[in-house]
Amino acid sequence: MSATVDFAADEAWALARDAADPLASFRSDFLIPPYGNSEQVYLCGNSLGLQPRSTRQALIDELDDWAALAVEAHFRGKHSWMPYHELVRKHLAELVGAQSGEVVAMNSLSMNLHLMMVSFYRPTQERRAILIEKNAFPSDRYAVESQIRFHGYDPATALIELEGDEVNGTISQAVIERALDEHGARIALVLLPGVQYFTGQVFDLKRITDLAQRKGCVVGFDLAHAVGNVPVNLHNSGADFAVWCSYKYLNSGPGAVAGCFVHERHARAPLPRFAGWWGHDQSTRFKMGPDFVPTPGADGWQVSNPPIFALAPLRVSLEVFHRAGIARLREKSVALTGYLAWLIEKKLSGIMEIVTPRDADRRGCQLSLRVKGDRGAGRALFDHLAAAGIIGDWREPDVIRVAPTPLYNRFMDCLRFVLAVRDWARKS
Ligand SMILES: *Cc1c(COP(=O)(O)O)cnc(C)c1O
Repeated sequence: MSATVDFAADEAWALARDAADPLASFRSDFLIPPYGNSEQVYLCGNSLGLQPRSTRQALIDELDDWAALAVEAHFRGKHSWMPYHELVRKHLAELVGAQSGEVVAMNSLSMNLHLMMVSFYRPTQERRAILIEKNAFPSDRYAVESQIRFHGYDPATALIELEGDEVNGTISQAVIERALDEHGARIALVLLPGVQYFTGQVFDLKRITDLAQRKGCVVGFDLAHAVGNVPVNLHNSGADFAVWCSYKYLNSGPGAVAGCFVHERHARAPLPRFAGWWGHDQSTRFKMGPDFVPTPGADGWQVSNPPIFALAPLRVSLEVFHRAGIARLREKSVALTGYLAWLIEKKLSGIMEIVTPRDADRRGCQLSLRVKGDRGAGRALFDHLAAAGIIGDWREPDVIRVAPTPLYNRFMDCLRFVLAVRDWARKS
């Protein structure tokens, strides 16, 4: 991508670029939070995506069906509740590059991670370790440590962490390879992110999977910050499982129903699992027999019947992604975040540095920014921006994350961010 030569740091350029954006109309599918008489510059879709306009009606439809049909809505609703999770399957599979039977929408992310580890983390005396990245998202770390302890092992010896070796703490492929060469024989599970939440670094799912599986390890990915952000091809990656949440880039609302991928080669494998009636073979589920027979594929990991009010927003949000197309979104995203990075380097180099890899292939839309100067400067800047209606998020100890998302952010938003930082630097 050599698009950078075309960039210009002025309003006329940004407005013209927005006007020429083939995906520009998607912004009006979302509710942009107000700021005074105008709108926020919302760069926080990595944390909580904005509400699609279609979400409200989707929820009202389910309330109406409940009111008018009650139990009958399971079979006769506008969107029948019994097979409701089927309504998201096609678009979900398309978004993560999976076969339709490999994905299921259920539970929340950390829960799915636990359910997957019940089946896919099967430690033995010789092979009991889990490999994660250092500074992993806390919930993942807690989940992993608790699984290790649950099996009677000690995280002090059974948890291996990849140390960042690059300038800003990001992790080179060489470090992953070295860890697998050195420890591969005692690693039961490799669990890495698609996009690292703190640094914004993208990991190469297929390369990691190939390497790790050659060493006999099981491979899972947490795609919390990858899904809806960068294209992923889960089936071809060969990963054993993946999990993600839907309230970040997937815009499905706080606590939305999360997702889960189980590779086709495990579709009928007799894996141990924590079972519930919704994972039982659908054709005989309501015979209510005593013996659990799993539905083949990812569906066989369902435990409970799904929360319809939490699935409805996912259903309509995935329709937006289907219409936009993840390839087109990525193309815009590379330019949009490329523009923001270019502006920051050109205009703010004395004020902040970019932690996220500069190469577009190694990042999604998020940039993690470290503010230069004394302790406290970053937090002061963050607060100044928030008061000016420019919303990113703050990660201790010193990082501001901003994520222009291609569905609803504009080139003008990137310029506004940079102008506001300059304004702060001038005053402080
Ligand atoms: C956002 C996020 C979570 C959140 O977990 P929930 O179970 O949805 O509360 C977990 N792990 C990662 C890597 C995340 O980015």
